[in-house]
Amino acid sequence: MDRRQALHLMSIAPLGAAIGLLELGRSLDTLPATPPMPVLFLGHGSPLNAIEDNEFSRGWQGIGKDLPRPNAILCISAHWETRGTFVTGMEKPRTIHDFGGFPQALFDVQYPAPGSPVLAEQTQQAVTSTHIGIDHQWGLDHGAWSVIIHLFPKADVPVVQLSLDRSLSPQQHYDLARELAVLRRKGVLIIGSGNMVHNLGLIDWRNPEGGYDWAIEANSRMKELIMNEGHAQLADYTNQGRTFQLSIPTAEHYLPLLYVLGLKDRKEPVSLFNDRTVMGSIAMTSVKVG
Ligand code: ZN
Repeated sequence: MDRRQALHLMSIAPLGAAIGLLELGRSLDTLPATPPMPVLFLGHGSPLNAIEDNEFSRGWQGIGKDLPRPNAILCISAHWETRGTFVTGMEKPRTIHDFGGFPQALFDVQYPAPGSPVLAEQTQQAVTSTHIGIDHQWGLDHGAWSVIIHLFPKADVPVVQLSLDRSLSPQQHYDLARELAVLRRKGVLIIGSGNMVHNLGLIDWRNPEGGYDWAIEANSRMKELIMNEGHAQLADYTNQGRTFQLSIPTAEHYLPLLYVLGLKDRKEPVSLFNDRTVMGSIAMTSVKVG
């Protein structure tokens, strides 16, 4: 190796070393501790946001630029529900186009980020309250790649998905998230991807830029609870009245928010972005912890 090559290696070492360790199968325990990585809840909305230049995709890009460089990403997506909890353990997760009726350009998108079998294993070990299975079938669904593509367009950060166990109560999801907090101090960026308000049955095609009164009201109340540590009420969302019932007809788009809140330390700052309702019954409101 000549001097120029050596200098080049040294210049990329801090980044390359961290990712290399994950990919080479070394334990996360051997990675130096980092300050806690931020945690994100991203309201993903339409899959088309993956390829559109709009206020939401620009919001995600802006957040991506401000983030410390993660060693890897753990994503809890609304679009992967299972019996029992699983993490993806493959080296090369496929890009899943889990939708229909969209332009070919969206089906043509590939997001070739590597997986991280080591992070999958470490996630499994971090959780003691339940057994986490390692999955080799899934990949990256659009809840993950349609937003992560804006945060890390080069697809050069390893991504692992964690599934939503249908059999857990909302409080159990929240509690499970708390066990994952240790990963934040190993440079792992944890992302919950869903929508706080998400009622596809009541989509209002005539109102692409706004929301029903009940959707706006629920979004406001949720934000208030998020900003004031009202996690108990948010976990008990089925008892928060009619606006919440209309906003959360099924749990899967809401539950990723509970993971993000469960990962928050009491004193950490929280900020909101992409805070808007669209199509009547979808809130794009996103949350950054830390
Ligand atoms: Zn979705």
